[in-house]
Amino acid sequence: MTTIRLHNTKSRKKEDFTPIDPDNVRMYVCGPTVYDRAHLGNARPVVVFDVLYRLLRHVFGTDHVTYARNFTDVDDKINARAAESGRSISDITNETTQWFLDDMGALGALEPDAMPRATEWIAPMVAMTSALIERGHAYAVEGHVLFRVRSYKDYGALSGRSVDDMIAGARVEVAPYKEDPMDFVLWKPSDEAQPGWDSPWGRGRPGWHIECSAMAYELLGESFDIHGGGNDLQFPHHENEIAQSRCMGHGFANVWMHNEMLQVEGKKMSKSLGNFFTVRDLLDQGIPGEVIHFVFLSTHYRKPMDWTAEKAREAEKTLRRWYAQAEQGVGTGEPYKAVVNSLSDDLNTAGAIAELHQLSLADDISTLRYTLQFLGLMGDMVPGWAALPKASGLGLLADKLQAVRQAAMQTKNFAEVDRLKAALINAGVEVRMSKDGVELVPGPEFDPTKLEALQ
Ligand code: AMP
Ligand code: ZN
Repeated sequence: MTTIRLHNTKSRKKEDFTPIDPDNVRMYVCGPTVYDRAHLGNARPVVVFDVLYRLLRHVFGTDHVTYARNFTDVDDKINARAAESGRSISDITNETTQWFLDDMGALGALEPDAMPRATEWIAPMVAMTSALIERGHAYAVEGHVLFRVRSYKDYGALSGRSVDDMIAGARVEVAPYKEDPMDFVLWKPSDEAQPGWDSPWGRGRPGWHIECSAMAYELLGESFDIHGGGNDLQFPHHENEIAQSRCMGHGFANVWMHNEMLQVEGKKMSKSLGNFFTVRDLLDQGIPGEVIHFVFLSTHYRKPMDWTAEKAREAEKTLRRWYAQAEQGVGTGEPYKAVVNSLSDDLNTAGAIAELHQLSLADDISTLRYTLQFLGLMGDMVPGWAALPKASGLGLLADKLQAVRQAAMQTKNFAEVDRLKAALINAGVEVRMSKDGVELVPGPEFDPTKLEALQ
């Protein structure tokens, strides 16, 4: 069996990955807060953990992996959006959730097995909050419940910082009812206009961090294998998740993985900085989803990356060439071993792309086709996929040339064969004719736009 090695934020090392139960490998990834279109940065963890999900399914079996990613549909940003737009909260969260699914689907990402919405799991959050109070790790005061950070001695271990360092560096909310400024909210009161649920502490709503601890426990159990998200979530969100779950006596996640940020001119792309564009903006500009996906794969997930139009153009050129080549192959049923090996080395996606270039040069079109599909780049589940092969259409042209050639053998008039052949060569395609048929191999100068007139 392939050994997967993953960089664990907790140990700051690459480790061999050994699942708790190889029959059910379990992964939780923090999902979006649903009040607006996903920006391109939000798509990075989706693509990164999609690659990991695909790799785990390949190694352990499709039915032996459970991937959960939540929707945060209770949050003050959502309340604010509802208040300013005059729309209801559920209208906004339902619409945004569907946008997210559509946009990520257009990138070719598989849907996780479970996509829990926070508002559907309030009871387990209340139960966990009560249990933390009973255990002395939390306290209720003025309708709030706060987690007592000093009661968890390993607080900060994920990011390797002490509580005092964190207080110095963090913008912690100071409130008169807090025992300690570091204490964070598990539950807070709601006024009439805010969404709220009945609880032992009055009508209120959960804090953000308890959401992931409660849903991960309900869906994946006390201990699970991998927890992922962007590295902006490491502190405080993930430190707080760990504190809550460990104080419940749960093992929680074994491996912690964090993707680096998508940047714009050296700064994190984010809504609050206003330096963002959405996935939908790019799709609407005609950039196919799999091109966006491929650009993400070209940079290792633990490195910051910039989106540039030049990268998108290069990616599209490469994909068009590969698709034209691969569409003439039949899937082999096995992804290319060297690609799997690269991915198994802490998701070395750039290395996997280098291997795909080799595979393309070796002209192993069936393996190329299957490997592209394995990566989510080519296949029925990719809605944007039709856009690329249609533009190249080399498979259809090969059939057409073969038919014209067979007719010419009867009539002895090869003018049409010569015309087609010349146009293909002019478009950078190598034409291979044999007694078995016609094969068209796109070369490095392949330009599909020159073929449009021929179809
Ligand atoms: P949010 O809706 O802001 O909580 O983010 C949802 C997910 O997107 C989290 O896993 C974040 O870490 C991730 N994320 C947000 N901004 C970026 C960015 N610029 N680059 C990469 N990941 C991001
Ligand atoms: Zn989370």
